[in-house]
Amino acid sequence: MGVKEQMISILRSGEAHRISFSFSGSTGATVSVNARSFARVADALADGSVRVIEGRFPNDIAMYSSAADTPNGFEANTFYLGNNPRYSRFFNALICHESVHASFDLTRSTLPWIDNEAAAYIAQAYYARNSGLPRTSFEYGSHSIIAYSVVEGMRANNTSDISFFLGELRNSLNADPMYHSYIAGQFIGDG
Ligand SMILES: [Zn+2]
Repeated sequence: MGVKEQMISILRSGEAHRISFSFSGSTGATVSVNARSFARVADALADGSVRVIEGRFPNDIAMYSSAADTPNGFEANTFYLGNNPRYSRFFNALICHESVHASFDLTRSTLPWIDNEAAAYIAQAYYARNSGLPRTSFEYGSHSIIAYSVVEGMRANNTSDISFFLGELRNSLNADPMYHSYIAGQFIGDG
């Protein structure tokens, strides 16, 4: 299976389609992710309006580029993969993370990057939870394990846990040097 077909099958899986949540973003606006978010990205991969390029990074990361960034060699509407362990639930969860960014792009959504990243990490943890990975399969103190606690709060309808761990996730993202250049800015989806 080519990677594009693999990503489409991940995004159309039951585990992805059972990801459904919304939360109050940093500006008070509701941020929502659901089955339609992943179906939309699967359709865009299938019809070629979103592309995927393999082997762009030497390590186990991935990214979605919404707009062309010529100086850094990134094209618009394109997923870039690294050296990823391709057949694992962690990879599938990572694809769900990046697809949240792609979905907000396709819906031409404008939202703070902090909310976009928080939604992506929650979706990643939600996929992990849906596929049977326990919270402790993620590294202690990582964004993913904090996001998993948000998901557990959502599943239990525990409002105070959701708000506590969402705050922790935002703090953790704001403090991460990897996100420093843009986390305080706005994401502007352009389709
Ligand atoms: Zn992200």
